[in-house]
Amino acid sequence: MPQQVRIPRHSPKLESVGFVADNLERIRAEIVAACIRAGRPEDAVRLMAVSKTHPVDAIAEAYVAGQRLFGENRVQEAQSKLPELMHLQELELHLIGPLQSNKTAKAAETFSAIESVDSLRIAQRLDAACATLGKVLPVMVEVKLSEEDSKHGCAPDALPALLAGIAACPHLELAGLMTVPEYTEDPEGARGTFATLRTLLEKHQTQYPTLRELSMGMSHDFVAAIAEGSTLVRVGTAIFGSRPKA
Ligand SMILES: *Cc1c(COP(=O)(O)O)cnc(C)c1O
Repeated sequence: MPQQVRIPRHSPKLESVGFVADNLERIRAEIVAACIRAGRPEDAVRLMAVSKTHPVDAIAEAYVAGQRLFGENRVQEAQSKLPELMHLQELELHLIGPLQSNKTAKAAETFSAIESVDSLRIAQRLDAACATLGKVLPVMVEVKLSEEDSKHGCAPDALPALLAGIAACPHLELAGLMTVPEYTEDPEGARGTFATLRTLLEKHQTQYPTLRELSMGMSHDFVAAIAEGSTLVRVGTAIFGSRPKA
């Protein structure tokens, strides 16, 4: 572990000292258990800590507890946190929220991957920004598998064209697919949606061998997502506690 890790001040937003570390330990165990039940290797699923709305101190506490992958849903917010996080080695930050075209350059600079690409226009702007930065950026396509207006993403029937368009961008790497299912009280209700995303990935994997990641599953349904093949679960509330209502 790098020497310069700052021991986090206890955040007033956190319920008790060790709250984040305890939650991480419990969730890691639940992930391993879900992998075993699904007959998958114990390390088949990566855990992302979704730190949106939570202070840098909470991120630092998770980092000290071994967490390396974090997710933020707004470019601006992530950018404001970054100066205090830059010294944390191996830190990986993914964008999981909708991206506007006027923020693509900042996003390309700030994040190690973008999981919420849903149009060719956004992809091409990211590609141009990465050309300037001299970097190759892993991206995932967010697929809209819910009827709700509040959900973002590419319609399933528009996916083949979008994948082909991204594959033609020299500074983007087509890394996977992401989705946010409609909320159901019983997390098993999201199983069908998770299975649909997996089927879409399998369908396109031969053509695009870098397409490997299935980013699906959140605090209340990550176990169901793992049963359906998730490789990356995005967990916020269960790690950091509840967020202020938007
Ligand atoms: C906020 C958010 C999450 C985490 O949600 P929790 O229910 O707090 O675990 C996951 N994915 C996306 C896209 C989000 O915006």
